[in-house]
Parts: sequence; structure tokens; C-alpha cells
Amino acid sequence: METTLRGVGVSHGVAIGEVRHMGTPVLEPPSKQIPEEEAEREQARARQAVEAVSADLMARGTLAGGEAQAVLEAQAMMAQDPELMSDVERRIDVGSTAERGVYDAFASYRTLLASAGEYMAGRVADLDDVRNRIVARLLGVPMPGVPDSEAPYVLIARDLAPADTALLDPALVLGFVTEEGGPTSHSAILARALGVPAVVALPGVSELAEGTVIAVDGGSGEIFVEPSAERRAQLEQAAAAREAALSGSSGPGATSDGHKVPLLANIGGPADVPAALAAGAEGVGLFRTEFLFLDDSQQAPSEEKQIEAYRTVLEAFPEGRVVVRVLDAGADKPLEFLTPADEPNPALGVRGLRSLLDHPNVLRTQLTALSKAAHGLPGYLSVMAPMVADRTDAKAFADACREAGLDAKFGAMVEIPSASLRARSILQEVEFLSLGTNDLAQYTFAADRQVGALSRLQDPWQPALLDLVAMSADGAKAEGKSCGVCGEAAADPLLACVLTGLGVTSLSMGAASIPYVRAELAKYTLAQCERAASAARAADTAEGARSAARAALDGA
Ligand code: PEP
Ligand code: MG
Repeated sequence: METTLRGVGVSHGVAIGEVRHMGTPVLEPPSKQIPEEEAEREQARARQAVEAVSADLMARGTLAGGEAQAVLEAQAMMAQDPELMSDVERRIDVGSTAERGVYDAFASYRTLLASAGEYMAGRVADLDDVRNRIVARLLGVPMPGVPDSEAPYVLIARDLAPADTALLDPALVLGFVTEEGGPTSHSAILARALGVPAVVALPGVSELAEGTVIAVDGGSGEIFVEPSAERRAQLEQAAAAREAALSGSSGPGATSDGHKVPLLANIGGPADVPAALAAGAEGVGLFRTEFLFLDDSQQAPSEEKQIEAYRTVLEAFPEGRVVVRVLDAGADKPLEFLTPADEPNPALGVRGLRSLLDHPNVLRTQLTALSKAAHGLPGYLSVMAPMVADRTDAKAFADACREAGLDAKFGAMVEIPSASLRARSILQEVEFLSLGTNDLAQYTFAADRQVGALSRLQDPWQPALLDLVAMSADGAKAEGKSCGVCGEAAADPLLACVLTGLGVTSLSMGAASIPYVRAELAKYTLAQCERAASAARAADTAEGARSAARAALDGA
């Protein structure tokens, strides 16, 4: 009999297929004592396994490219942490086998991470994955991870380690469902980059038996277990209708009555450019430059290395705009040389622009590199700062841009509620706003974006968040300036219509979402979008806002 489970849809589309579970066995090696004379040999085995795993992670990174590469490389560095290695060697010295030494050393590091604040705790899954890989290699058993299957399947996991998400083969993986992870967690962002339907934050889904047939609706967040024939037909029909709408959609983003809303891509580096171009992105609305900084935890990349990356992206969009965000380090993206190690609450600490203003050399090098990269190119460069709180922040950023001789538009991200409330004041210093709805939701609802259990509060349909979007867009309109959205909210086709109705002037998202958003927007007039926006804001809940907008659009 069909049953329905509900999680959070993070990547649209429908997948119907058999369940396969992610192989994440906790490989616990036996605790046997080794004689002293074997210690040296065991230490060498441990070192070789660590090196092999770390090389494998780097190779997977190169294969995956883009944002996934930076994440995998960070994992490779985790494996090679010298303190962790010394701990492994110490344990072998007192009688552990290599595998048991690795297992126990990682366990104590894990406890440290798990108790070091929410953002560190969010990296525990990455650490477990590294440990499993090393232990599996030492035990000579298959690597945990994506199941071996010749036939396509729906992947179920507690949480997806970045190493595995990057390796998912869209031809085999029809979709995926995880127990953990919020709608703005990096697993969700990577799923959208892959273009497979995905649902997260669904407790209990790991208990579904291997081989069970399920249907995943990545839009609504619903999972139908053993779907009935009627349900399958209904979902397949809806998916086919969607595909048909997509195939007819191309060109610049606009409502059906011609109100233009440029559709831009979110990228992590040059490797994401081909997908953006293939999806018909009209430019880049968010270049997350921090991925260039993750290679080396001790220092910023050289000016030359930065110039090369920026130039490659700018050259790819000779006619479109490219909005580069300066380094956004801290909280869920800590950098050793910038982020204070002892903050009691990193998400509320020295992060984003705050951290750059504390390290003016890093900001200066980045702005100078951008200025040199753009020199002589026809494109239209914009540069924006993350985590701008007020006019003082905006002025400090604009001053730094001017001092670096940057010939570009300067903008501010709206990620802190104070920036929405005082949008007009901030716009006295900069030329545009870009709403980072992921962090804006996090700070509006005091709900950590890494915590799956709080996904109700991170839902961008929350009317309070829509109010802040409206406030920012109204402020920009009054100043005759633009206000885009570059948070995950822009990737939801229905919400994209509502954002347009709220007065947002451009939408930037992972490339895979662009065709869906373009097709949905093209169905409605600006007046219809405005009516949907008012209906959504009049609701009291995210769910209410979603259905009110749907009813306003379909009933109009
Ligand atoms: C956001 O916060 O919405 C945003 C776009 O930035 P990031 O997801 O990189 O924090
Ligand atoms: Mg942000």
C-alpha cells in the first residue's frame, strides 16, 4: 500500500525507482595488541593508507571540478592533518594496529569537532567519511560510499559526504533522499548543481528496505513509498509536462508580458562556467570566490592565481554581467589564516566582510586582482561584499574598491536583517543590492542553516523573509537601483515568480535550475506575479504562502 513521507524538496524533478542505501558501515576494527617490534611497520601502513586516501580524494576533486573540488580537497587536507597523524602513531606505539589507531584517533578528533560549535559539527560527516576510507583501505575491504549498481536507483543516505555527492552519476542516480541536511546545506547546493531531484531532512528514511520502490518529488519534498499505478502516472505526466515546457524555453528571462528579469548563474569558479553557458545564463550573479581560497589553509592565493581565475570567468561572459563576491570566510567556511579559532558563536562572529576589514591586505589583493583581470575586457564587472550590516560597512567596502582603482559597480549583499531594514541607507554608498536569502533566513529566524531539524525556519517561503525581500526591493526602487536575489530562493520556480512580484530585478541560481525558472516565469504576467506576491505575504506560514501564491497564479 502506498505511504507518503514528507521532507524538504531541494532539487526539483521527479524520480521513481528502487532504493539503494549508501554504504556507510561503521567499520570498527578489533582492538588487538601488537608486539612492540611491529609498531614501525604498522605506522608505515597507516601513513601509506592516509596518503593513498588523500590522493584519491584529490583525484576525485579534479574529476568533479567546481565547488565539489574545493570540498574534496578540504577533505584530503583533513586526512593529512599532522596532529591527527601523530596521534595515530602514538596509539600504534602503545600497541594498536594501524586500523585501530586510525579509528581511535579519528574518534577523539570527532568528539572535539562535534563539540566545537555548530559549523564544526557540520563537518563531522566529512571527517567520518575520511576515516571510513582509510580504515577500509587498511582492512582491505571495499570503500564505503555510492553503491555498486548497474541499474538506475534512488539513493538513500543519512547525510551525503561531499566526496560521494561529487561522484554520483546522474545516469545511474535517479535522485536522492537524506535524513539530515537543511535546504541550504552544501549537500543541497551540490544536488542542484548535479541536476538530480533531491529531498533532505527526512528522518527515518534510512529504514526503507533495499529495493523498495519509491517516487521522489524534489519540488514538493514528498516521497511516495510503493507508489500506486495512478500516482506513478500522475507524477510521470507532471514531469513530462514540465519537460515539454522546458524544451520550449530559451533566451533571456522575462514574464509573459515582457518584463525582463535576467537569469544569472551562481558559480564557484571557472569549472562551473560551461554548465552556466549551456543553461543560457545571462551572466553570473554570484561568483563564490572563497572556493579559490580553500586550497591552502595558511595563506590567500597569489594575485596571479586570482587574476587567472577571474579573467577566465569574465571572458566567458563578454556581454553579460559578472558579479564577483569578495571572500566570504568564517562560520560554515572557516579559513585558518583569517577566522578566529576561539569564537563562541562563529555564525555571529568575525566573518564575511568583517573578516576582510580586519585583514585589509587580503581584500586589497583580491580587489587589485579583479581590477587587473577586468582590464581591457568588454564585460561588465560588479563586485559585492558579503555580510554587510549597515552603511558604515558599505562605505568601508566601497572605499576599499575605490582605493584599489577598481572600475566596476560596487554592491552589498543583504544577508543580515539590519541591511533590509536600512536598505536605502546602504544604497547611499553602493550601487546595487543582492539578497543572500540563505543567510538572511538563518539570521531572521535564528536558525542555523546547517541544522536539518530547523528546516521549517529556513524555508524561504516564510512570510517574514518575503517581507524583508520586499523591503529591500522597495528601498532599491526608491533609490533607482537594482536588487537581485542570489540565495537558493531564486532556484524555486514558483518562488521566483513571487520574488519578481516583490520587485526583485534579477535572479541568480545554480545553472541546473535556470531552465525551470525561465519556463515558469514565462507563464505569467508581471501583474500576476505581483498578485501572487501579495497573497504569499498575507499568509502566516511558509506552507500557506506557497499555496496562496499557487492559487493566485493558477486561478488568475
Ligand atoms: C546566501 O547566504 O544566501 C548566499 C548566497 O551566500 P552563501 O550561500 O554562499 O552563504
Ligand atoms: Mg551567505
